[in-house]
Amino acid sequence: MKFPIDRFQSIRTPFYYYDLDLLSRTVAEAAAQTGDSRYHIHYALKANANPLVLAPIREAGWGVDCVSGNEVEAAVVNGFSPDSIVFAGVGKTDEEINYALGVGIGCFNVESLPELEVISELASARGVTAKVALRVNPDIDAHTHHYITTGLNENKFGIDLRMLDDVVDKALALPGIKLVGLHFHIGSQLTDMEPYRMLCDKINELQAHFAEKGITFSSINVGGGLGINYENPDADPIPDFKSYFEIFRENLELGENQQLHFELGRSIVAQCGSLISRVIYVKKGVEKQFAIIDAGMSDLLRPALYGAHHKIENISSPDAKEEVYDVVGPICESSDVFGKDEKLPALHRGSLVALRSAGAYGETMASRYNLRALPSSIAF
Ligand SMILES: *Cc1c(COP(=O)(O)O)cnc(C)c1O
Repeated sequence: MKFPIDRFQSIRTPFYYYDLDLLSRTVAEAAAQTGDSRYHIHYALKANANPLVLAPIREAGWGVDCVSGNEVEAAVVNGFSPDSIVFAGVGKTDEEINYALGVGIGCFNVESLPELEVISELASARGVTAKVALRVNPDIDAHTHHYITTGLNENKFGIDLRMLDDVVDKALALPGIKLVGLHFHIGSQLTDMEPYRMLCDKINELQAHFAEKGITFSSINVGGGLGINYENPDADPIPDFKSYFEIFRENLELGENQQLHFELGRSIVAQCGSLISRVIYVKKGVEKQFAIIDAGMSDLLRPALYGAHHKIENISSPDAKEEVYDVVGPICESSDVFGKDEKLPALHRGSLVALRSAGAYGETMASRYNLRALPSSIAF
């Protein structure tokens, strides 16, 4: 990636930089590769809720996947149509459910029987009908591939397969509710398509099972999770949407009048974003040297939270002779480390570095820990 470094010089670091051209090309490629008019993308807003990032996504006509009442509100405020909003999450409060009922969202992705009962009650009290999909835990082990897994039985997400028949019957019987479909989300940062193929098999099996009982669904939602190349972002600036959607086209049996929904977050916004930071000090130890930068885990939490690694680049002097650094933030936590033994062109006080692939789960996870300022953002 070519960084507009002249324009960076006057901006207070650290800040997020979003390459809107790459974002637009990513959105266009994902849209082009869906390849079926029954396929619909809902952008997972928790990945990045910056209005500058949301604009091209809204213009593509996509819906939004939300996991809190405030995210539903952010989607509405940013001009997304309420009926294109789906709302997941294991702990929706009464206040959040009432808010979503009030704006008339497209679908609640319901994660438990008690939640279903509360939505039924609150919708009935308002005299409205809530469209719901049941989030199923398909017991697919994406973890064997070291992914961040959400689709296993011991996980807090979704309804256990063994209880699904009962919950479906309940959903069909309760007032104030219209059961429209089944929802799945098996994990995040999946770069191998095999778990998605397994998911398709599972959905085919479930649809056949319910069809036998005379129950059909107008909507199937397969969640998100498509991964990106963190180690070499310039090799894959746009994820392989073709292979991703092909898996569903080739393996999922979808009826003429059934709609298939996707909730992509990371794969849409990760590669267009970088966290730009300045070296405060180069500190020489006995055996190591540290590049202490002005961004910390309060600005980009993923390394401290998941042991994730973002590619680090010296964008001030990319051609300087390489040296080895531990690249660390200023925060009083030992986990505030962005890279150990990083080979980088020589850094100096004032050098600018880019932490790449930071457009997803970067700015949205920022905090004010140590009473630091929240990072700012620019996009062009
Ligand atoms: C987080 C989340 C997503 C998006 O996941 P990505 O890995 O960013 O694509 C989709 N659906 C649900 C329910 C989620 O919680």
